[in-house]
Amino acid sequence: MRPRVKEYDHADRYPHELVEQMKEMGLFGATVSPEYGGLGLPASLYARIVMHISSVWMALTGIFNSHLILALAVEKFGTEAQKRQWLPRFASGEVRGGLALTEPDAGTDLQGIRMTARREGDTYVINGTKTWISNSIEGSCVALLVKTDPNAQPRHKGMSLFIAPKGPGFTVGRKLEKLGYKCIDSGEIVFNDYRVPADHLIGGEEGQGFRQVTGGLELGRINVAARGVGIAEGALKLASDYAQIRRTFGKPIAEHQAIQLKLGEMATRARAARLLTLDAAMSFDRGERCDMEAGMAKFFASEAALENSIESMRIHGAYGYSKEFDIERLYRDAPLTCIGEGTNEMQRIIISKQWLKRNPVG
Ligand SMILES: Cc1cc2nc3c(=O)[nH]c(=O)nc-3n(C[C@H](O)[C@H](O)[C@H](O)COP(=O)(O)OP(=O)(O)OC[C@H]3O[C@@H](n4cnc5c(N)ncnc54)[C@H](O)[C@@H]3O)c2cc1C
Repeated sequence: MRPRVKEYDHADRYPHELVEQMKEMGLFGATVSPEYGGLGLPASLYARIVMHISSVWMALTGIFNSHLILALAVEKFGTEAQKRQWLPRFASGEVRGGLALTEPDAGTDLQGIRMTARREGDTYVINGTKTWISNSIEGSCVALLVKTDPNAQPRHKGMSLFIAPKGPGFTVGRKLEKLGYKCIDSGEIVFNDYRVPADHLIGGEEGQGFRQVTGGLELGRINVAARGVGIAEGALKLASDYAQIRRTFGKPIAEHQAIQLKLGEMATRARAARLLTLDAAMSFDRGERCDMEAGMAKFFASEAALENSIESMRIHGAYGYSKEFDIERLYRDAPLTCIGEGTNEMQRIIISKQWLKRNPVG
């Protein structure tokens, strides 16, 4: 992808050709069990793939990252019939998609969503709007969070998650224009009397949607952390290459102490981000609860991506501001990692709550 990334990114064009190659490599089934046609990779290996790709082009990972969270929801919480019906098609990339949670009035406060699903015989009728949904235009299916009981208290008890393939009543709006994270389609979806068979309710029981969505957050946060690591490392590599070539006052700028201080900090941040992310991924692979570890990795790695991209841009001088150099893309892509899978404001609160729970006085 390296030779073509600028062309795709600047034209904001969906990389169909690369998606075909990703299908052949099995990336759409990377974390799906072999029993259902996937590669069954452990999170620690999967995270390294995401890091590697993101060090060049983070947006490309979004095409399979949120797709795999959709697959995880079905594999972890679905009925056996749902797994057999959907997972092989997800794993091959024949059916691709993502997770549709956010609404125009509800992002962080997910329990505040307004989308409703009303049961009518063997179907549910769904109405409402989702926004910012990755893969909503080029994909063909989403895991859709709705309220099956809008009056339930506590609110999460009225939430359910559906496998929602495209069909009548499922209308995708325009591709949203973004600062970075280009090419991948982020769209708004309007559901207007969209009918879905009752057997598309994940797990077959109403009221489990919030638990099912939060159950995928650990892997989701490891995903985003790995993207942050990739950007932090990519920005460092671009900076260190440039600093050894660019000369001022008779020597490469890498020999000026001010630049060395920046490179030293950037290298430390990138390495710490990598280790935190792999630590969380290995804990996930051992089947341990790792919401705090994944949150720490996501928080630290995304901030490292942001800081390293701007420091790398400074090291590039005027050329960092040029669209002909790669660093401007990393600089535009980095902020998304601070928003996705829980903003970093919320992340710190989650970490703190878990920390206090695990460390009572005494
Ligand atoms: C490029 C892109 C792709 C996306 N892809 C998807 C997708 O595929 N599927 C999907 O469902 N969503 C997606 N999202 C949406 C994303 O998950 C939300 O934007 C995110 O959850 C934040 O929600 P919000 O934008 O409504 O911000 P808000 O919830 O309105 O928050 C605004 C600000 O207030 C802060 N805040 C909110 N509540 C608190 C609190 N209790 N304490 C402290 N601070 C608080 C937040 O941290 C933030 O700084 C995407 C977003 C982007 C930009």
